[in-house]
Amino acid sequence: VVEMAERLVGEADAPVLGVGVGSPGLVSADGTVRQASNLGWEELALRERLETTLGLPGVVANDASAAALADMERGETNASILVVLGEGVGAGLVMGGELFGGEHSAAGELGHVVVEPNGAICSCGNRGCLETVASVPAILRALNAPTDLDPGPDLEDLRRRFGPDRVDVVLSSVGMRVADVLAPIVAMLDLARVRIAVEIQGAAEVVAASAEVVLRSRLLPAVSRVLRVEATGKVDDLVLAGAAGLVARRRLGVVP
Ligand SMILES: [Zn+2]
Repeated sequence: VVEMAERLVGEADAPVLGVGVGSPGLVSADGTVRQASNLGWEELALRERLETTLGLPGVVANDASAAALADMERGETNASILVVLGEGVGAGLVMGGELFGGEHSAAGELGHVVVEPNGAICSCGNRGCLETVASVPAILRALNAPTDLDPGPDLEDLRRRFGPDRVDVVLSSVGMRVADVLAPIVAMLDLARVRIAVEIQGAAEVVAASAEVVLRSRLLPAVSRVLRVEATGKVDDLVLAGAAGLVARRRLGVVP
């Protein structure tokens, strides 16, 4: 990561304000990646390493949180959640127009909420976390598809290979499990918008549609009527925009 940042800074043809990174896992406010089980990172002082090597201010944030911030800036709500189904499952929570980190900067770590107490072993050591049923590898496993598809998986390709009905059943059940976890959060925090991103090109619409049905059925009608549940596009772009936006906020005090 540091080498790539070094190369990019070297190639920049304008003054560089700082370096923003979106990392999976738990990231503390000082830019230390406390635990990213999918990468095998623990207590990695990434921001400090970046700043020492590059001599530039750094910002390191959870990837889903960075994406949520960028997504919020493109929308018109101050209270929303973006759930990202990728290698793991993460979420970023925006409250009052700002990222909400919680006591330990761990807000949004929905992936390790247990939804199947007797389910599969998760990378964190528990059983049946949301991640074991709703991450992209879990979706591919449910289809008996190889988990190392290259280029990344794509909805139409999966439908061709495994049958549209089967693929849609798997994605719909993922949407239901995600909604199980989200319903109390939406009610508790009075969120106006739920956005769902899936790192399978085209799959977010199917997952969001099924999550929407479940969410609407679980919430007070007055809340349900005004809630928006939407699929969002390329999450990588949002993470980059969000990480860059955090640099601008910290350095310039402006919201881009
Ligand atoms: Zn877990």
